[in-house]
Amino acid sequence: MADTLSPHERSVRMGLIKERNTKPEMAVRRLLHAKGFRYRLHANELPGKPDIVFRRRRKAIFVHGCFWHRHTDPECNLARFPKSRAEFWRAKFEANQARDAENCRMLREMGWNVLVVWECELRDAEQLGNKLERFVRG
Ligand SMILES: [Zn+2]
Repeated sequence: MADTLSPHERSVRMGLIKERNTKPEMAVRRLLHAKGFRYRLHANELPGKPDIVFRRRRKAIFVHGCFWHRHTDPECNLARFPKSRAEFWRAKFEANQARDAENCRMLREMGWNVLVVWECELRDAEQLGNKLERFVRG
């Protein structure tokens, strides 16, 4: 890792800080907007700070990067395991996954429906758009 990164950049890179308004997140927002849905962003008071929420419908969407959040779909080629420092990455990834699972569990206990959108799903915008619509309306 280059030493030219600022502490903030490094923290984002390390997955310690949840980055806002990422490209995948913006793309999901555009799809929802195109379907005419109104939503709120970055619900800071909810577990895991969901990226997109529909408060009246009690639906929360997380847009997850496949690498950091460990997309387990065998079709996904964005979540490849790093070749070096395997133990370091394994610990980091396990912490991320445990945190994600705990946030989902808490939200569901609070009566929210939760959808995780994976970065690689954006490759098929039509399919993802339909999935989002089913989730929001369902
Ligand atoms: Zn993926």
